[in-house]
Amino acid sequence: MERETIENRQKTNLLLMGAAVLLVAFAVVLCLLLRPKTSGASAFVIRFGEGQSITVSSDQTETVVIRDGVRVDAATREGKENVIVIENGSARMEDATCPHHECIDQGVLNAQTSASRPLGPWIICAPHGVSVELRGGGQ
Ligand SMILES: [Zn+2]
Repeated sequence: MERETIENRQKTNLLLMGAAVLLVAFAVVLCLLLRPKTSGASAFVIRFGEGQSITVSSDQTETVVIRDGVRVDAATREGKENVIVIENGSARMEDATCPHHECIDQGVLNAQTSASRPLGPWIICAPHGVSVELRGGGQ
């Protein structure tokens, strides 16, 4: 009789564990199913300095000023400066102190233009080591 009750308890424990495992598996599947909705939004990744980066969601409006490899609050047009503007789902190099302003000439980067731009989803200021990459958005 005692053995039987122990076996029953073990069975009950196994069932409970099984249910817990199923519940966790269900939660994981649910998370995976829901994830694309949150991470599917596109974003701009601005890289500068020695491996630093800033990610700005494309639905945000933000001006990012990088001077001499560091993010600063305001543009002064001194040193190696880049002014990146993100608004209305687009990014552009608003201003830069590099010699030939090639990064400014690269124009507007967004989900529509990235397919036809020469640099694709990138704006690159090679002399200053600053880049902007469009990420996500169902690509
Ligand atoms: Zn430049």
